[in-house]
Amino acid sequence: MPAPPPFSTAHLMAIIVSIRNATKDYRLGKVTVPALRGVSLDVNSGEFLSIAGPSGSGKTTLLNLIGCVDTPTSGVVEVAGHNTAELGERALTRLRLYTIGFIFQSFNLVSVLDVFRNVELPLLLQRTLSARERAERVHSLLERVGLKDYIKHRPSELSGGQRQRVAIARALVTRPKLVLADEPTANLDSVTGQNILDLMRELNHADGTTFIFSTHDARVMSFAHAIIRLADGKLASAADSGATAAEVAEMGHPAQGAAQP
Ligand code: ADP
Ligand code: MG
Repeated sequence: MPAPPPFSTAHLMAIIVSIRNATKDYRLGKVTVPALRGVSLDVNSGEFLSIAGPSGSGKTTLLNLIGCVDTPTSGVVEVAGHNTAELGERALTRLRLYTIGFIFQSFNLVSVLDVFRNVELPLLLQRTLSARERAERVHSLLERVGLKDYIKHRPSELSGGQRQRVAIARALVTRPKLVLADEPTANLDSVTGQNILDLMRELNHADGTTFIFSTHDARVMSFAHAIIRLADGKLASAADSGATAAEVAEMGHPAQGAAQP
């Protein structure tokens, strides 16, 4: 029997991500590093969820499992109704390309392509839009993230914050159902960070896009419908949007040594 969903109304809504008792061990030579130690979580379609927690708590590992970049050592990760461990490479690629937009912490831009081509890339791989439709999509997003004057630049000619905005545009250009963002505002000044958050919130409201962020940033957390907190590879606590600003801020700086087994 699966554990009951954490929200009382969950059975009424479409659940886009369902995780049951997921663990992830990394092996470093003979040493095993337990990065996730039994995480269970349901995320409703249309949710705007923040994953908080100190460095090393497992945020990136959890996003990688949800983003089909990696599979759990044990437990089950379901995305859009698919158990990711049961999908072959082609099906995983399809899920990543059509359902998920991933904003990686390290951006993962293609260094030989200019900004326009980097953002266009997932649309080219999808092969559903014409060149003209692709160009319209790319230009309008680059305008939204404040990069329309950098279309011909290569990633190496951009600042960290500009590269991050290219990565954000690339993740959003396919209009995915589920957007995963690993510390999406970490390299941005507060005005740019605010613009990016406004864009994401607008997509969340208008299209019902589901967003899952990891962040240290209390400002980003204050945008979330719900916050889950990771400590030492486990879910430490959860709060919904009723959390006070002080509680939210505190969640960004959790006490050392919390949730030891
Ligand atoms: P966060 O994103 O919250 O900083 P991570 O998910 O990156 O945390 O890391 C969780 C734990 O797993 C840390 O102890 C980290 O050192 C370890 N870890 C992450 N990736 C690897 C890897 N590829 N190989 C070995 N250990 C890793
Ligand atoms: Mg990380």
